[in-house]
Amino acid sequence: MTWEKNMKTASAALAIALVTVPAFAQNVKITPLGSHEGELCANDRATLFEDPTGVRILYDVGHNLTGADDPRLGDIHLVLLSHVHGDHIGDQKLKAPGAGTCTNSGRVPAGPHSMTAEVAAAKNAVLVMTTDMGSFIGAKIRTITGGKPITPCPQSAGVTNVPVATSCRSNTHLGGAFIARAPNASQSVEITIVYASHANNVPLSLLSEAQRANLGSDGASLVIGPPTGYVIKFTNGLTAYLSGDTGIHTEMKTVVNEYHKANLAVLNLGPSAGTVMSGAYAMNELVRPASVILTHPNEAVTEGGVLRPASRAAALIKQLKSATPHLAISGRTMEFDGTGKCVAGC
Ligand SMILES: [Zn+2]
Ligand SMILES: [Zn+2]
Repeated sequence: MTWEKNMKTASAALAIALVTVPAFAQNVKITPLGSHEGELCANDRATLFEDPTGVRILYDVGHNLTGADDPRLGDIHLVLLSHVHGDHIGDQKLKAPGAGTCTNSGRVPAGPHSMTAEVAAAKNAVLVMTTDMGSFIGAKIRTITGGKPITPCPQSAGVTNVPVATSCRSNTHLGGAFIARAPNASQSVEITIVYASHANNVPLSLLSEAQRANLGSDGASLVIGPPTGYVIKFTNGLTAYLSGDTGIHTEMKTVVNEYHKANLAVLNLGPSAGTVMSGAYAMNELVRPASVILTHPNEAVTEGGVLRPASRAAALIKQLKSATPHLAISGRTMEFDGTGKCVAGC
């Protein structure tokens, strides 16, 4: 073959490769990190998202990590926190993988900084959360590292390139968007903070001695700004609504469905903020996603990896009309295409 012909063959092969590879690479990978691998357990919250461009997002560490060095984490570019309740900020951590039971995982105190701050510090990650919570977590990161104050992230044309050199914060309130781009990527991931109908008081164990003494005797704690959810627009078109802990509310229809057009919901269950019927109504009539991932169940949903028919989650699934339900099984990576459909791992 002539040199020219060789080049033509090579470029044809490259063209085929370029056409073929993205078909596999265009999915968003979603991996729940729970207490018991292969199950959906009561205390499960933490979820890892990976955009096709490589941006990696950790949402609500909860009580699910063994530490900032939990080997399931890998690189983390963005750390999201819906609200500061202990089961989200991580006032406790998992004693060991699979410790305790699926109904009550084995946990130990996580110390005065929270697992959210420990992980963000260890990974040099961006805090994507309200400015109230970002400042609170930022102060703890500074205590951990002994470094400079945590400031708003560097941006060029409104975009923050990740990984960042050192932890920074999104500097966004409710309704604000943070835009992150991976090296050499042509598109960005956009994360908007949305409303949640809940509370946002921090565990006393995460306050300074003086605050604890002051507030504890009144059975009160500090409120760190409003509780939130998120809408994440991934580069393949997947638009995920992360509900956070929330009661049913009207913005699920007006903001999440009509404005953002979310096609996937990650729905927090648990009876303190909703019922089987309100959760089903929110999915069927308000958010109307193509798929819904059920998490934060506050009950053992599976046994041997199989849905327990007597669970509240099973009752909710029965009420769903059009959304395809998926359980947030710990350690199982699900892949979603741009339409909100699970195409692998479900
Ligand atoms: Zn909560
Ligand atoms: Zn919760």
